[in-house]
Amino acid sequence: MSYLSIRDLDLKGKRVFIRVDFNVPLQKNPQGMMEITSDKRIQASLPTIQYALNHGAGVILASHLGRPKGKPNADMSLQPVAARLQQLLQRPVKMAPDCVGSSVDAMKPAPGEVLLLENLRFHAEEEKNDPAFAQKLAALCDLYVNDAFGSAHRAHASTEGMIKYVPRAAAGLLMEQELKYLGMATTNPPRPCVAILGGAKVSDKIEVIQNLGKVVDRLVIGGAMAYTFLRAQGLPTGKSLVEEDKIELARELLASLGDKLLLPVDHVVVSEIAAGATYEVVRRIPDDKIAVDIGPATIAEFSRVVAGAKTVIWNGPMGVFEKPPFDKGTVALAIAVADSGAVSVVGGGDSEKAIKAAGVTARISHVSTGGGASLEFLAGVELPGVAALNR
Ligand code: AMP
Repeated sequence: MSYLSIRDLDLKGKRVFIRVDFNVPLQKNPQGMMEITSDKRIQASLPTIQYALNHGAGVILASHLGRPKGKPNADMSLQPVAARLQQLLQRPVKMAPDCVGSSVDAMKPAPGEVLLLENLRFHAEEEKNDPAFAQKLAALCDLYVNDAFGSAHRAHASTEGMIKYVPRAAAGLLMEQELKYLGMATTNPPRPCVAILGGAKVSDKIEVIQNLGKVVDRLVIGGAMAYTFLRAQGLPTGKSLVEEDKIELARELLASLGDKLLLPVDHVVVSEIAAGATYEVVRRIPDDKIAVDIGPATIAEFSRVVAGAKTVIWNGPMGVFEKPPFDKGTVALAIAVADSGAVSVVGGGDSEKAIKAAGVTARISHVSTGGGASLEFLAGVELPGVAALNR
């Protein structure tokens, strides 16, 4: 991959358009105002914004928020983000009434100033990657920076289209960090390299299994995904989640991955999925039971493999971790990943929550900010937003 970094740009006196991911969770307070429930995504872009300001740029920030379907929607305005950003940056943030048009042209920021554009998806042209719209966005700036890794798997006007019309385009610091870790893990990882995949469905992660299978030394599969593989091996899975139409594919993957693939050897089973439900640990899943977590022997085996790794890639929970105590396997694995001292690259909201719950976030090398984008990256797909920067 060859792309410029914001660190390669001469920012002084320039107007830089930074595509950020401010798609924050919002909820209405009793007064009917939208409030941000987590500012994690705003915090994640602060280093890039600060860098641009410290190097003498005027900063234009642009993001989508929610799915307003191409029309203005007051509940999906970026106004609350402007207020929060202003506190975090400790300098004024001007809020534009729109993202293109004469009202925005009149607000172009001077060096040291910050202008936040209104939700890009208030215009249907954003998701359609409309060239005229992309040109209008490009006309606002001298330089373009993409820091929105979480949107890089979409070829939209602000992530892909407008790059054709700007003199120079570069990756922001967050984008660079994502590409560095995900790139290293999937192309040239310190070995042994172990990938752990979990979650609900094999069908969501077929390409990831196929692509990582070529790169990693061991592929560990837990979560509901594992039961489709166990069925393909002819083992009983009771009432556990199995994708009947993926059993044949699982059989082919078992054959091609051979000893690389590691599956659970024991299981926590219940009669119904509910927090605190009565459970037992079994080696063979009874016909009337549902497997909801990996068992202690599996935790020990998976942890042993992880302990010997120099690189660990992890995406997806080992069980129904939202319903304690069936979070045990996932949390134990989070601790194993942190304890391994390996370069660790974690993606997916559930794995991130498990890492937080286990209190080991600080010992993980990189927690990806892009769920869908990181999965596509692990699947070996060239992300349009990144490909455009490479051009
Ligand atoms: P994903 O979005 O594919 O990463 O899947 C995450 C979901 O998988 C979580 O909501 C988990 O509750 C669910 N999950 C993990 N293991 C199991 C299991 N053994 N049975 C049912 N659901 C599971």
